[in-house]
Amino acid sequence: RSMSSVSIPPPECMLRPLEVPVRYLFGPGPSNVPPRVLAAGSKPIIGHLHPEMYEIMNDIKKGIQYAFQTENNMTLSMSGSGHAAMECAVFNVVEPGESVLITVNGIWGERVAEIAERMGANVHRLVKAPGECYTNKEIEQAIEKHKPVLFFLAHGESSAGLCHPVDGFGDICRKHNCLFLVDTVASLGAAPIFMDKQKIDILYTGSQKALNAPPGTAPISFNDRACNKMFNRKTKPVSYLFDMTHLSNYWGCDGSPTRGYHHTGPVSGFFALRESLAILAERGLEESWRKHKEVAAYFYKGLEDLGLKLFIPDKELRLPSVTTICIPEGYEWREMLTYIMKNHQMEMTGGLGPSVGMVMRIGLMGYNCEKTNADKALHALADVLKNCKKSKA
Ligand code: PMP
Repeated sequence: RSMSSVSIPPPECMLRPLEVPVRYLFGPGPSNVPPRVLAAGSKPIIGHLHPEMYEIMNDIKKGIQYAFQTENNMTLSMSGSGHAAMECAVFNVVEPGESVLITVNGIWGERVAEIAERMGANVHRLVKAPGECYTNKEIEQAIEKHKPVLFFLAHGESSAGLCHPVDGFGDICRKHNCLFLVDTVASLGAAPIFMDKQKIDILYTGSQKALNAPPGTAPISFNDRACNKMFNRKTKPVSYLFDMTHLSNYWGCDGSPTRGYHHTGPVSGFFALRESLAILAERGLEESWRKHKEVAAYFYKGLEDLGLKLFIPDKELRLPSVTTICIPEGYEWREMLTYIMKNHQMEMTGGLGPSVGMVMRIGLMGYNCEKTNADKALHALADVLKNCKKSKA
């Protein structure tokens, strides 16, 4: 057999058409994408360095500034999922050996802690049970003790269904010369966040939750304090792709008259992200927050009427986009989820990380955030409760 002959035949599966089922995505993300955003993502490709693309990126920047409530110039979207933004934040503002302080009350703090450890940071975790909150006093004491350069908090802790209060932490961080990093992947558009007013130094989110864009892009913003730290570092960040010196130029944020090639951005993903930010701008943040709160309250009532218990007891601390319920006694959660998928074409999920086996998670976000969808989810839950009981517990 000659070296130039093909020895691996075309795979059988590739000779069949692509099939994608229609599903209710009522898990913690991705959520269903409205036709308008899908249409934006299917427009013809243009070059990533064409002037029209720069205009679209400039629009995205403005859309993010509105969504984050920030005037930060250093505002852009990662070419990558929420994890890209997590890594970008940590890789750029922390140097090896520096101390960071991370709240771990679900999976997201643990993920950020691992990312920081991998780049050689000196990581201090404040571990609590999933869904528990931190007081301002606890945080101030830990900051005094560990003297971190960075403090992390998940605003929307989606593995626990918690929406953590943010007020006050920004002031504490400033007082102790520490940067305040907040994850709003699961909460942006669903619960109020004010990057500038709440003195958040670095904020990021994802495209696939309440923004209803396809997965794969992740807005992020750095204020002047964060820029000072990251552009005055001694070492280069470990990642080339996520290096903000390059990304800030690519996004026209570095004041340079020319924007150059760094990497090829996800052109279609950016079209879709722009459209989803446009929908949020048209609708208005206040209306989006109000709607999530209203539908969530309606959903809580329906869950309680079914005899289900909400995992976060305090209503005010529940994440409006992702609701966590305790696994009802006498049921096997995996079986419930499989039943719901099979019989209702509906995704709900179990816990994640430390909340596995503790909760089931139901997301009604953005486009999916409607009482009619809450009714569909409640109907599926009523059905599973009737048909999947294991024991007479
Ligand atoms: N943070 C939070 C709070 C999330 O809910 C998620 C996604 N579930 C992420 C970060 C990670 O985002 P991605 O899956 O897009 O990388």
